[in-house]
Amino acid sequence: MPKVTVKIDSELCITAANCVGIAPELFQIGDTAAEIFREGALQGREHTFEASGDDLDQIDEAVASCPTRAITVIREA
Ligand code: SF4
Repeated sequence: MPKVTVKIDSELCITAANCVGIAPELFQIGDTAAEIFREGALQGREHTFEASGDDLDQIDEAVASCPTRAITVIREA
């Protein structure tokens, strides 16, 4: 599975929770902004992990849904 790094810019995130609605197993609202949720726990606002095809589809959808463009994704080759 490809590795991806997902980052959430806390300055841009307005906790609209679109990302959580699309991918609740990948995003949750933390104290002040969305955070990456993996392995049953919040992982902070930047996290690198192996993503399945379903994960990648949901990440792409979450990125597109974010009203403030707060989510950045870097895919490793
Ligand atoms: S959709 Fe964007 S603004 Fe809304 S909680 Fe997620 S990262 Fe934050």
